[in-house]
Amino acid sequence: MATPATLNLQLLAAAGDPSDVTTIALAGVIASAGLRPSEYRAPIAGLGVEEFAWLLESEFPFLEWDSHLALRAAQKKAPRPMSSLDEFSDLLALLWDHRAEDDTRSLWLACAVSTACMSANHLWQDMGLPSRHMLGDVLASHFPALHARNDGDMKWKKFFYKQLCDRAEVHACRAPSCTVCNDQSLCFGAEDGLPLAAMAPPAMALHA
Ligand code: SF4
Repeated sequence: MATPATLNLQLLAAAGDPSDVTTIALAGVIASAGLRPSEYRAPIAGLGVEEFAWLLESEFPFLEWDSHLALRAAQKKAPRPMSSLDEFSDLLALLWDHRAEDDTRSLWLACAVSTACMSANHLWQDMGLPSRHMLGDVLASHFPALHARNDGDMKWKKFFYKQLCDRAEVHACRAPSCTVCNDQSLCFGAEDGLPLAAMAPPAMALHA
């Protein structure tokens, strides 16, 4: 059984460009699958098996075939997100509606970010990233208008959910504005913590 850290390293070693922040983010979300709630343990929720296979071939062209097959099998057997059950599809739509380009990588990343949002830690941690700064870079690259809208440096998950509430015209906040809200410390502030790759429960079986 590979740990998230081991799987992350395997993927980055197999990457076409291991310094590319989008590739790093996709690797982190795939590697963190075993840390997510059971219904979101697909490597990247929301993608069909063939689309996921294309992602693996494009982003990690040097991945050993056994590992490729194991990840495809994990994607295939994972339950598909049900739009009526939670906010996954709403998050995906929010991100997709703010894409800079109609390209497959933006779709893959939108699915990856939405998948990681289903875990309970800071988003950068749940994406298996080494820092919050890198999360900002990857969001700015693919969803620049959404990234720019978070000009108060809100915590990213809080920011996305606030956008969903605003879109639905749901007024869940207890204050008329953030500046006079007693919950500011919950929504703003540093998203400090260690990368989750530092933790090492088993992720998923790989043969490499
Ligand atoms: S700080 Fe208060 S008003 Fe602003 S998003 Fe958070 S809960 Fe809502």
